Parts: sequence; structure tokens; C-alpha cells
Amino acid sequence: MKKLVKGVSEFQKSTFPNNQEFFQELANKQEPEVMFLTCCDSRVDPSLITETDPGDLFIHRNVGNIVPPHALVTGGVTASIEFAVAVLGVKYIIVCGHTDCGAMKGAMNPDLAKSLPYVNNWLSHSAAALARVSAKHDELSIEEHLHEMTEENVLLQLRHLETHPSVATSMAKGNLELHGWIYDIGTGGVNCFDPNQGKFVSVQDRYAHLHTTDWKETKPDRRFKQVRKLCP
Ligand SMILES: [Zn+2]
Repeated sequence: MKKLVKGVSEFQKSTFPNNQEFFQELANKQEPEVMFLTCCDSRVDPSLITETDPGDLFIHRNVGNIVPPHALVTGGVTASIEFAVAVLGVKYIIVCGHTDCGAMKGAMNPDLAKSLPYVNNWLSHSAAALARVSAKHDELSIEEHLHEMTEENVLLQLRHLETHPSVATSMAKGNLELHGWIYDIGTGGVNCFDPNQGKFVSVQDRYAHLHTTDWKETKPDRRFKQVRKLCP
């Protein structure tokens, strides 16, 4: 907790005054272009890995970056999606999984139900992903098949997204795209699903059409005057 309190003090002393004009603009409105839906894992930091500013990403997080399919019950994910799409008018929803995901390991662990019944229940929204991975292999191993499970889960949650009426409406109008990403904690790599190739490829390859020069030569479009340092 000490780290957090010191951090807030530093933010108020330095970062906020250095970006006061920027924060004033944000004070009464938000216009994010992207909804970023990812896992709760403490190692996944959407703004950090995308080098984006406050106001750029509408973020929803839960265990396993799961989107329950549309149903006649209201949940937090459904409400977040509806707000992002129908009110904020986001143009993109990114479902971002990650390596070493405890939720995906849990989904692959048949003993989970005994110790964590609620988590187990929640992860049943990944059951079809597990079924697809299981069908391809005689024996399932977390070590060998975790990555495949993580990819299948992202793709499944993208399909679930399409069952939500607000998403279906916006997609039918050509105003919304769904994207699937996997963040690699150990390497900093980000792979993205390419529907044309039917597989995950590097972020630079997936979005090559967005840029005309080498990605290595580009700088992020940040307005923030002080990019935070991770190490002292
Ligand atoms: Zn996770």
C-alpha cells in the first residue's frame, strides 16, 4: 500500500501539473475509440503495452478476458459492452488474452471445481474453447497446450461478443470491428488474429496496412508529457 500512496503523491506533485491542460480536456468528456477487454492479471497493463494516454482506452477486465454470450441476465460485462458501443460509439473492441494465464490454466484443470466453485462456474464460458483444443489432442497438457487454449479462448470470446445486440447492430452498420490479441508477458510480443490467414500473427504484420513505413521508425501518438518510468 505504501507504494500506491507514494505513487499518488508523486502523480499529484509532478505528472498531473505537467499535463494539466490535457487533464482539463478530459475532465468532462471521454471519446475512446477502443474498448479493451482483457484479463485481471496484474502483469497485463493495457495502457502500458499500447503506449496510449488516459482517455484512449475504455477498459474492461475480468478473470480470463471472458465475454459471456448474450443471455437474459444482466452482468457487468454486458453493461460495459453496451455502454462502450451504444453510448461511447467505440469503433473497435479488442479481446486481449495473455501468456501464463491462471484462468486458462484453471479452465484446463478438472480439479478446479472442488476448490474454486465460482471461478470454475465463470470459466465455463471458455468450455467450448477447451473442447476444441481437447478434440485436437489425445491427451491434454497445460504445459503443451496452454497457448493454444489461450488463442482459442480469445476467438471464442469474439464469437460471444457478436451475440450481444448492441455489438450486432453496430457491426451491421459497419461501425464496429472486433479484434483478438495475445500479449506475451515474457517477451513483450503482441500477436493478433488475422482473419485472412486464419491465425495469430505479429501486431506489425496484422496492421501493416495502417502504416507505410517501418514500424521501428515510428513513435506513438502520445500527448502525455511524462511517460512513466517502470524502474527507479
Ligand atoms: Zn489471465
